[in-house]
Amino acid sequence: MKRIGIFGGTFNPIHLGHIQVAEEVRNKFFLDEILFIPAALPPHKEPGQVADARDRLEMIELALSRYGDFTVSDVELRRAGPSYTIDTVRYFISILNDKSTLYLIMGLDAVLEIDTWKSYLDLFLLIPFIVLTRTLAGRDDTDVGWRSLEKYLQLKVSDGYRFSAEQSCFIHDEKQSVFVFDIAPIDISSTHIRRRIKKGKTIEFLVPNIVRDFIEVKGLYL
Ligand code: ATP
Repeated sequence: MKRIGIFGGTFNPIHLGHIQVAEEVRNKFFLDEILFIPAALPPHKEPGQVADARDRLEMIELALSRYGDFTVSDVELRRAGPSYTIDTVRYFISILNDKSTLYLIMGLDAVLEIDTWKSYLDLFLLIPFIVLTRTLAGRDDTDVGWRSLEKYLQLKVSDGYRFSAEQSCFIHDEKQSVFVFDIAPIDISSTHIRRRIKKGKTIEFLVPNIVRDFIEVKGLYL
């Protein structure tokens, strides 16, 4: 059985924070592979600020070319209309499920608004989550992240979720487990990178050089 992580996002652009996170999650959860899945039309983002999906996909391809266990998937670019995670998860379950265990990797910030996502309750039936607590880590103690997730799961998903210290995750009798990973905060975001480009500042050390060159040549985010 292969263990595969699904790592979705806008990747506008991909940065070293994404890669470092993927590396840490892969090690911690013994994943064989991580699939990076850029959203074609992110339902929650203003379209004006988002680079063309093909360019975002190409930047991920360039960034991941050195990492054998990380792959990019264009599944959301091949679908018409907005990119919904539930459709992506159903797709990968349909093609991989009998030979793989799938995990959905998400930041805590995204999980805490998942009740606005299409068919979000089905996600908890279909796939275990790996939740990264980067946003709240560092601001306070990491307990804050865990507690806010516990409250949220019980309120918006099911009050049957409870924390299992033994398994170090939230478990449920009928639904999938929700693992929490207190990742060391990495102070890089795509928003920060886009702002720096607008101001004419360097983005060296924030994205792989090959991605920086692509952004420069294409004149993205100016
Ligand atoms: P933006 O600044 O445009 O919102 P972002 O840098 O948060 O973008 P996304 O494409 O939204 O990037 O990220 C995809 C996933 O990666 C999300 O689940 C997000 O929480 C996670 N992520 C992004 N940057 C980091 C980071 N520095 N540390 C940990 N997780 C991150």
